[in-house]
Amino acid sequence: MNWQDFEQEQPYAAKILKSGIEKSRVAHAYLFEGDRGTGKRAASMLVAQSLFCENSIDEVEPCGHCINCKRIENGNHPDIHLVEPDGLSIKIEQIRSLRKEFSKSGLESNKKLYIIVDAEKMTISAANSLLKFLEEPNMETTAILLTEQPQRMLPTILSRCQAISFKSLPTNIMTKKLIEAGVHSVKAPLLATITNQLQEALELNDDDWFAQARKIVLKLYEVLKQNPLYVMTALHEEWNGHFKEKQQLEIGLDLLLFIYKDILYIQLGKETELIYPDQHEKFKVDALQISSGRLSKQMTAILEAKRKLNVNINPQLLMEQLVLKLQGGHIFV
Ligand SMILES: [Zn+2]
Repeated sequence: MNWQDFEQEQPYAAKILKSGIEKSRVAHAYLFEGDRGTGKRAASMLVAQSLFCENSIDEVEPCGHCINCKRIENGNHPDIHLVEPDGLSIKIEQIRSLRKEFSKSGLESNKKLYIIVDAEKMTISAANSLLKFLEEPNMETTAILLTEQPQRMLPTILSRCQAISFKSLPTNIMTKKLIEAGVHSVKAPLLATITNQLQEALELNDDDWFAQARKIVLKLYEVLKQNPLYVMTALHEEWNGHFKEKQQLEIGLDLLLFIYKDILYIQLGKETELIYPDQHEKFKVDALQISSGRLSKQMTAILEAKRKLNVNINPQLLMEQLVLKLQGGHIFV
């Protein structure tokens, strides 16, 4: 991503960050908050490149070719650290080793930057350790915290960060952009719902795993509807092997949720907003056969399963429980 793309996708966030860099008034700590797919991570990398680039254009746009730009792109710049959840949380040891790393002077200059991904996943002790770090004044250190759920973070941390909101584009505008960029109109609404970033959407569009995921999810829905006895077999034969990682399963559950959302939208007469426009005729039949109450229970069950993904449940068990609820089984806890 370059600044031009960033300004198009997130005008508000881009303006604040760019003006900070231009005026050499970069905040000590930023909080990038916004939904998944709004480009927070790409923006943090862009800011890093702008700050470290050796021949930036107009002091802002990174050249993309110098050694610093390259190392940031490859994730191996010695003065830039990325902290990500280790399993389900960010642990105190991770913050401690970050602080230790930063107590040394910069390897190449005194400038340093760290990025904390999913910052709300810090344990309380990790958050308190980070807080001390944020309180130690160091003019040349920049922190960027990324989160989808700022409400789950310590207020004391939030108050030390300059918050930058990343907005989701309305799906219909994103869909239009994708179609203009050459994505098939049948696939565009789903991609626009999954991510707000044009580049990511275009990559997904060319991604075989994703294309296959869409097929498997639609097939599971068909099996649930027409052949419930076969549903466990369908899970074992196709689903479990395809949605192995937690993030993959999260996408799988989203894709499944969107089917029920479409059926609900048909019931509500919002047929122009379907995520699976090519399934319209089929879903129309289903919409007539299912009560909105049942539909909402099914959607709740999927959301519940998504939530459970964050508490280390066995994914196969999670799916088995979910399909029982979706096919109208009796286990409704
Ligand atoms: Zn550069």
